[in-house]
Amino acid sequence: MATLERNVDTELMSIVERAAEFHGHLGPFLVIGVRIGLIGLRELKIKKKNENLRVTAMLRNSVPFSCIIDGIQVATKCTIGNQKLKLIDSPRIAAEFELHRDKLTVAVNPATFNRLKGSLLSKNVSTEETEKLALMVASTPEEELFIIENK
Ligand SMILES: [Zn+2]
Repeated sequence: MATLERNVDTELMSIVERAAEFHGHLGPFLVIGVRIGLIGLRELKIKKKNENLRVTAMLRNSVPFSCIIDGIQVATKCTIGNQKLKLIDSPRIAAEFELHRDKLTVAVNPATFNRLKGSLLSKNVSTEETEKLALMVASTPEEELFIIENK
């Protein structure tokens, strides 16, 4: 994975590596989840974790969309197991973050997703190709890939 670390934020990549270890492989949807999680933490001014944070992931609960869940879990420490993460089956890709009275939603920009989905959802892709797509998602500018709502 060393080659993937070029041109990408090193803090993001270290969490992505941990997420890939937990998830079993590295792919673009896992990276989307990590980035959603990190944006939520940053916007709520949380450093690493907060016991009171609650996250609701809204996405299609099937692979590869569900890979996003593991990215969110590793980034936020809100998990299905500790019941701080809820899932809502949804055609969009978004997560709602709640800390006390603060609430915000981080969504994948549907226009950008539609532009990328041909490659992101292609079948029978090699591990190397999948990791390249993960890097592409890691290096796509935040304002292009994500929309932050209820700010
Ligand atoms: Zn996956």
